[in-house]
Amino acid sequence: MARYTGASCKLCRREGQKLFLKGERCYTNKCSVERKPHAPGMHGQQRKKLSEYGLQLREKQKAKRFYGVLESQFRRYYEMAIRKKGVTGENLLKILESRLDNVVHRMGFGTSRDEARQLVTHGHFYVNGRRVNIPSYLVKPGDVIEVAPGSRKSPRFKEILDITGSKVVPKWLEVDHENLNGKVISMPDREDIDLPIQEHLIVELYSK
Ligand code: SF4
Repeated sequence: MARYTGASCKLCRREGQKLFLKGERCYTNKCSVERKPHAPGMHGQQRKKLSEYGLQLREKQKAKRFYGVLESQFRRYYEMAIRKKGVTGENLLKILESRLDNVVHRMGFGTSRDEARQLVTHGHFYVNGRRVNIPSYLVKPGDVIEVAPGSRKSPRFKEILDITGSKVVPKWLEVDHENLNGKVISMPDREDIDLPIQEHLIVELYSK
């Protein structure tokens, strides 16, 4: 399973906005976007006007980075989105939202998508009573997600919930932090996805 292993904060600085890739640190004044609000690299402080293609490309990169997905998989999601009924861009975001690592993060069982991905990979979650260690697993309405029985006593989950406990859980998910489980009620609507992504730009890019 390939994933980006470079410096997360550089990705935020490249996009010029907080992508919340590091969990707790993102909410403190240690955040690199706040300390160095320009792109990384020698020419990072120069402001460039982006072409139409540049804007579309940046939007795609931003979406990939939010969800921690590399190009080949992102492209596969796009192909899936085309085949579904409805608006392709919205379908794409809904598919990305239904990844298990994202759902674990949205439920508050991981301070960032990256941490959620790691916890899933290490086998700390069950879906419908069976261990699932594939972060890209796509959940569907009715799925029950829970911390694996053997992991429930881990002090890490208490630490995580101390950080995420007050976060609003989107309405398409139901969560019981006390019993370390949650349920997918429905697929998200576009307005449930609060990320600043203009998905039509991604569709325009791939449609060329
Ligand atoms: Fe991005 Fe978080 Fe790093 Fe800030 S601390 S630059 S939001 S990953």
